[in-house]
Parts: sequence; C-alpha cells; structure tokens
Amino acid sequence: MKAIIILLTVLLAGCGPKFKFNSPAYIDSAFRPYVACFKANYPDVSGKLGITFGSEDEATGRCNKYMPNKKRDIVINPFDWSISSAVRREFIIFHEMGHCVMYIGGHDDDTFNYMNSNTPIGETILEHREQLYLDFFGEDYELCDLSFDEAT
Ligand SMILES: [Zn+2]
Repeated sequence: MKAIIILLTVLLAGCGPKFKFNSPAYIDSAFRPYVACFKANYPDVSGKLGITFGSEDEATGRCNKYMPNKKRDIVINPFDWSISSAVRREFIIFHEMGHCVMYIGGHDDDTFNYMNSNTPIGETILEHREQLYLDFFGEDYELCDLSFDEAT
C-alpha cells in the first residue's frame, strides 16, 4: 500500500507542469477591461488565454501560442504600458488579441490598422479610432468607453 502511495505521489509530481498548463489562464487586472472591450465586439474567445506583464526589455507585446490545447499567453511590456494612453493600450491589446484570438498571423504595415506592427501615438489612434474598429470588427462594432482608465 505504501509503495502505491509513493508511486502515485511520483506520478502526480511528474504531471506538475501539465496540471499548470491546463489551469485557468490568468489575466492581469490592468488588462481585463480591455479584454471586455474586445469581447464585446468579438465574443468568440475560446480556449485558455492569459495576459500578464513581461520584461521591459522586450517588444511592446507578444502572443505565445501553445498547441494543441489552444492555450495562449499575451505578454505586455510594463514600461510601454505605463507611458501609453488608454487608446494606445487598447491598440496594444487588440493587436495581440488579433494574433492570439483572431489568429491573424502576420502584420499589415501598409495601412493604418490594428495589425500594424508600429504602435502609433495615442493622438493618431484617437483620430482614426472608429475606422480602426470598423476595419477590425465590421460595421456592427461597439466603440468602447475607455473612461475606466485614467491614463491619457
Ligand atoms: Zn504583432
């Protein structure tokens, strides 16, 4: 009996990373309102998605996809986030959700859109925000009220 318990303990310990892999993904509270804005326009956020702050030395944002269980992680540069306005933060999250949720693989740097890899300044985004929504979500888009975020 003791041998069985030890064996079970070893087996469970060996599955540790797998259990963690399948645990509900964590979305940092800073990003949750932006995820809600995205979901209001694109409800099909299936599978497990985590969004956390990463390193200040990396890109503004990054989408990691882990197949085959559809787990995805978005990692956001905390410094870029701290200096960004609410509409720029929205741009950053929507861009990465474009990769991780809509499965848009590449970038479109020829036009002004959420999948442009050059994150513009907030004023430029604000000026074209409705067009950005229209191009990304279609004509039934619901523009998000960003007053929850005091960043300007
Ligand atoms: Zn990208």
